Amino acid sequence: MKFTPDKLPIYGETLESLEQWLFQQKQPRFRARQIMDWLYKKRVHTWSEMTNLPMSLRDWLSETFDLSPTQLVIRKSSEDITNKLLLRLRDGSLIETVIIRAPQKGVGQDTSRKTICISTQVGCAYGCRFCASGLAGWKRDLSPGEIVSQLIQICHLEDPITSRDKNEIASFDNIVVMGMGEPLANYDNLLQALKILNAPWGLNFGARRITVSTSGLVPEMIKLASEPMPFRLALSLHGATNEVREQIMPINRRYPLEELIPAAKLFVEKHGHMLTLEFILIEKINDTIAQADALIEIARDLHAHVNLIPYNTVQGLPWKRPSRRRQNVFLEKLHKNHIPATIRREKGHDINAACGQLRLQIEKNGVALPA
Ligand code: SF4
Repeated sequence: MKFTPDKLPIYGETLESLEQWLFQQKQPRFRARQIMDWLYKKRVHTWSEMTNLPMSLRDWLSETFDLSPTQLVIRKSSEDITNKLLLRLRDGSLIETVIIRAPQKGVGQDTSRKTICISTQVGCAYGCRFCASGLAGWKRDLSPGEIVSQLIQICHLEDPITSRDKNEIASFDNIVVMGMGEPLANYDNLLQALKILNAPWGLNFGARRITVSTSGLVPEMIKLASEPMPFRLALSLHGATNEVREQIMPINRRYPLEELIPAAKLFVEKHGHMLTLEFILIEKINDTIAQADALIEIARDLHAHVNLIPYNTVQGLPWKRPSRRRQNVFLEKLHKNHIPATIRREKGHDINAACGQLRLQIEKNGVALPA
């Protein structure tokens, strides 16, 4: 399903496309840079604040473009340091954006490292058995403007313009494209959004600090490997043999490990970054010693870092989080075999932080949201 809004989200425009629009309006090219400056450097909330633009141009911009395609409806904070935002799009769809804070030793929370996890689709068609996002199926792709707007929303919320170093445009340290949806299934819109985030006239955010996650869409992984921007890649593996992976990730039937691992290898060879293997630990499904052994082989082959994520329980799904003891045995096994591995502890477990869970709960229970 494609959603065509009345007005185009301005955050989906590149400098070149905005110049084209302005050319049609018989406006000089330099106006496009002025507008980008207001959007990404001064980060205004209204067209009327763009005071160096003629009034007639401001009127045309406001009739043509949407300055706020995402609207904050709920902000939930967890007992640890994860914040989850539920955002409403112009067609009423809900998406999630998450702020994950990692406090630095010896400094206050304000200077913690911040990672922003953004969504690329409303729902998801890939139906991983453990995931809340896929439970209600896929509704639509997000436009580039809706993807970028999630970050602008965070900038507005987290980083008042007065407290900002002018050279440091964003207040966060990393972006992970790992929220609701399969990012590579919305390839063109994602790439356009990343280009805007990375561009000097846009958010000027370094590509090396952007990680794109995938459940394993092999053709798109190969395509991404040939992109010039040096993004990082995280592969949601979650099963180290075809048998186990298939049980929880239907995509494995289309792209089994024999195809997936070479595609991941190609990406590593082309971009030279260490790949991350995401591995959600689910009790008695993939937390066994046999799975750890198979994972060691894959991680060694790919020179990958393994990120273990104890499963966040999702209402209505049968899977369980393994005990601390089982989690530690798995982690130690990797470490003993010299595989760089970390385990993510408890970030947001108390705020439905599993991908898509907050949205699912709100939609299922018909909770009235603020207008
Ligand atoms: S884990 Fe990712 S790809 Fe799988 S259903 Fe959830 S959102 Fe989709």
